[in-house]
Amino acid sequence: MAIKQNLENIIATLPSHVTLVAVSKTKPTTDILEAYSAGQRIFGENKIQEMAEKHEALPKDIQWHMIGHVQRNKVKYMASFVSLIHGADNFKLLAEINKQAKKHNRIINCLLQIKIASEDSKFGMAPSEASEILQSEAFSTLKNIKITGVMGMATFTDNTVQIENEFKLLKSTFNNLKSFKAENCQLKTISMGMSGDYKLAIACGSTMVRVGSSIFGARNYSEQ
Ligand SMILES: *Cc1c(COP(=O)(O)O)cnc(C)c1O
Repeated sequence: MAIKQNLENIIATLPSHVTLVAVSKTKPTTDILEAYSAGQRIFGENKIQEMAEKHEALPKDIQWHMIGHVQRNKVKYMASFVSLIHGADNFKLLAEINKQAKKHNRIINCLLQIKIASEDSKFGMAPSEASEILQSEAFSTLKNIKITGVMGMATFTDNTVQIENEFKLLKSTFNNLKSFKAENCQLKTISMGMSGDYKLAIACGSTMVRVGSSIFGARNYSEQ
């Protein structure tokens, strides 16, 4: 019951142009089904194996988003079904996603993860790197992926001014990159904001928020 209520409370605050990814990592399939019955269809996971198992067990109209760091050798385990990969942060990874997508005769949508946090622990590429990749000859040959936006994670801090500046950096990076258009690149999504900061993220231009604990409750581990 609580999950349905939490979900409805959050959805009520979201502008219509903002998509909600319900982050279900570590949570059992029963919790996901509760959100599913309330109408939620987009779920985010940060471990490929866990996402593949849940995909196997749950209704097939669920759209699975990989929001965590992606190891190249594991792309094959999600290539047949993943709906959006948020954490594409280097060219070699994009090339591998393209290769695996091709095997399944599909196009996999990806977001370029941009490093906006000051912490060393956060993944992502510099805005300049993203721009170089998009304009490269090598990128233009990747026909089985599509870059549909950018993703970023703010520093884990109470300093809202810092978080706001980092979100603004992602928004301006998006604005700069979106002039680049190709068959495999059309930027429309800015994935930023989690339970603690999604309202601020939306105010800074987010179009996709990734919310976990505010829907499903706290997770039983300290790692994000
Ligand atoms: C876990 C996670 C979230 C959701 O975090 P909450 O604080 O539980 O909302 C969002 N994005 C990423 C990349 C995550 O790993």
